[in-house]
Amino acid sequence: MKFNTKVIHGGQENIDPAYGSVMPPIYQTSTYSQSTPGGHKGFEYSRSGNPTRSALERAFASIENGNYGLAFSSGLAAIDAVIKLLEPGDEVISINDLYGGSYRLFKQVFEKYGIKFHFIGMENAETVENYITPNTKLIWTETPTNPMLNIIDIEAIGKIAKAKNILFAVDNTFATPYLQQPLNLGADIVMHSATKYLGGHSDVVMGALVVNDKDLADRLYFIQNASGAVCGPQDSFLVLRGIKTLHVRMQRHCENGRAIAEFLQAHPKIEKVFWPGFETHPNHEIAKKQMNDFGGMLSFSTKGNNYEQAIKIVEKLKVFTLAESLGGVESLAGHPASMTHASIPKEEREKTGVLDSLIRLSVGIEDIDDLISDLKQALD
Ligand SMILES: *Cc1c(COP(=O)(O)O)cnc(C)c1O
Repeated sequence: MKFNTKVIHGGQENIDPAYGSVMPPIYQTSTYSQSTPGGHKGFEYSRSGNPTRSALERAFASIENGNYGLAFSSGLAAIDAVIKLLEPGDEVISINDLYGGSYRLFKQVFEKYGIKFHFIGMENAETVENYITPNTKLIWTETPTNPMLNIIDIEAIGKIAKAKNILFAVDNTFATPYLQQPLNLGADIVMHSATKYLGGHSDVVMGALVVNDKDLADRLYFIQNASGAVCGPQDSFLVLRGIKTLHVRMQRHCENGRAIAEFLQAHPKIEKVFWPGFETHPNHEIAKKQMNDFGGMLSFSTKGNNYEQAIKIVEKLKVFTLAESLGGVESLAGHPASMTHASIPKEEREKTGVLDSLIRLSVGIEDIDDLISDLKQALD
């Protein structure tokens, strides 16, 4: 199947043997009857497995072109499960320009358990080699990054990781498998905050992992069940429904994203627009190579780097909602320095370019004329 068919049918064959329903039933149950101890029909307790969640997990695997999918109660719960593969003394090389919540989880939770994190720029893939020690067990990256829209060469880092037998995980939340499929490019683990584009309607919090290797999948299933950060059947249903329109939503997100990037670029009050589709973007060539288009996320800074001015702009927006999160059908605007990235110290934040004036947009799928007029009135 091609991608646009997989989003609708991938892993969904014979979904309801009882009545042939086209969508999987929401199995709102915690447990399953057994005819004799151990005599069940594949499910015994909903932390370990639930048919609605299983349908979603097969869809995750299908759209990322992987063998095994796992659903979690949030994106951070999915990352938490990956880090629990490690042991005290192990080291992780992580990108420095990463989702604030991932940074907080690494720094404030897992460092306490003796795992060491190196936060580095990965725009130049070879840089990673300088940080590899015999204890390095995982390389963690995001691309495009949040909120600077840096592009990381997945294939190049995958080669480095493979040569040293290090696990390589990619947070694919921003790009989605519509734009890039990290497993095809050499990653071992793909992670999603399904809260964002996969769900797509800002109505659910969920996380996903997809892998190819059976042994790795078994270790992650063990952690998923043992730690228990699973999602419920209702949420599984909603994300499965969201995935069915991922391709058409992404197409429009990309179109609108491009139009807004070009509008902002030409506006006299704008200092800089961060969007990988510009030829002047430092890793534009890599973006073109590994992505099918450039997505609906972009950031911009205004001239003068003024904190109060940035706040005023986001307050004046009417069609764009001032809110955390991204990836829904509606357009959102955020001020990373005071919102998503407030948990990263100012010094660390500014090193990666998250200035006081930076505004991040998640461009939705509304009419482009309304989105541009809204930005225009707020900037004017
Ligand atoms: C939102 C987000 C996360 C965390 O996911 P939750 O579902 O909020 O737990 C991780 N990575 C990226 C890139 C995100 O945008």
